[in-house]
Amino acid sequence: MNSASVLVIGGGIGGLTAAIALRQKGFAVDVIEKDPDWAVYGVGILQQANVVRAMAQLGLFEDYVGAGFGFDAVEIFAPTGQHMATIKSPRVIENYPPNIGIGRRALHKVLGDRTIAAGAKVRLGITAERLDDDGAGVTVTFSDGTTGRYDLVVGADGLYSKTRTQIFPDAPKPEFTGQAVWRYNFARPPEIVNLHNYVGQRGIGLAPLSQTLMYMFLTTPEPGNPRFERKGLAAAMQARLADPPPALAPLVTQITDDAEVVYKPLEWLFLEGAWHKGRVVLLGDAVHATTPHLGQGAGMAIEDSVVLADELARAASPEQAFLAYRERRFARCKFLVEASRSVCYSQLGTGPHVDHAQVTREMLALTAQPI
Ligand SMILES: Cc1cc2nc3c(=O)[nH]c(=O)nc-3n(C[C@H](O)[C@H](O)[C@H](O)COP(=O)(O)OP(=O)(O)OC[C@H]3O[C@@H](n4cnc5c(N)ncnc54)[C@H](O)[C@@H]3O)c2cc1C
Repeated sequence: MNSASVLVIGGGIGGLTAAIALRQKGFAVDVIEKDPDWAVYGVGILQQANVVRAMAQLGLFEDYVGAGFGFDAVEIFAPTGQHMATIKSPRVIENYPPNIGIGRRALHKVLGDRTIAAGAKVRLGITAERLDDDGAGVTVTFSDGTTGRYDLVVGADGLYSKTRTQIFPDAPKPEFTGQAVWRYNFARPPEIVNLHNYVGQRGIGLAPLSQTLMYMFLTTPEPGNPRFERKGLAAAMQARLADPPPALAPLVTQITDDAEVVYKPLEWLFLEGAWHKGRVVLLGDAVHATTPHLGQGAGMAIEDSVVLADELARAASPEQAFLAYRERRFARCKFLVEASRSVCYSQLGTGPHVDHAQVTREMLALTAQPI
């Protein structure tokens, strides 16, 4: 099937890694992205060794690690600021950093540049209005009125995937957890070389992203899922950091630019049923969106891409490939969504107590397994 034509819907982490993986196997790939500016917000993302391994499989190891910051451990602090433990991360693969912090824009540039260099065609400001699958192929009607004919369609259009709604109108909708994350970038001081985690009901983290940059994330209960105007976001984040651990107090006063605060309600979604219909298949957040408590959401999208391309390259039919893809991904993604969510509910006090460190160890053991 390697000569098949594939439309990838969504130019985010999942869609771009899918495009790269499919081009590696020889497929003809078009990508459509609804955002005409192809913009990504400016804070960072944390990933573990399984993601570094998947990026290496995609031939992206040097670009990816070079654009980020490799680190070895998580430093745990009490809410008062007292240092409690250093948890060393296992090295899954010799000479690979066990963790990477990377700016989302830096990651997007690595993936976007490689997608284009690999020969995928990217069209911006376009969505797929109709997908007509007649069994032999899919005729796609685009939002600019043009049409295209593809052998396969990959829906990598995120948590609120329109592709998912088109093929599974009755699929569950994303569910808000009751918790949200506030994030802000700072200049990285030399001592922040690992992830610093201040545990408690109000979780605070400081993560290195590059030689010069780090970011802070702050998780807070936000009952009722309030919406915030951009104006006033910095003050709202500062207010939630009242009485901070002493080491963080100077940073809190630097949170002044409303435009640089990234606020996200935490939602999750997992499709228990089929992940494809006919010649259309889902990938990444479109099929399994997790809260970030184990830092594996984007990692799962990247691993999906490697596995999907692998199965498509060796299967005799799309049906065979899509079933094998789901089979290889289902248990791992389900565990990560459920375990991340259980940490979230434990922090909120809306679920049983969960030992975050123990769940993290389980996550590391699971994700160290080959995909
Ligand atoms: C607060 C927070 C922190 C996180 N931290 C981490 C972390 O530290 N580590 C980690 O691994 N993961 C993390 N994640 C998860 C990670 O961001 C997602 O899992 C990942 O972005 C999923 O990639 P995706 O490509 O599936 O979806 P997205 O990144 O959402 O990309 C979807 C793309 O599709 C486009 N699109 C949407 N609709 C359409 C349409 N109809 N047509 C065309 N294009 C469309 C969008 O514009 C977007 O570019 C975090 C998530 C949150 C919310």
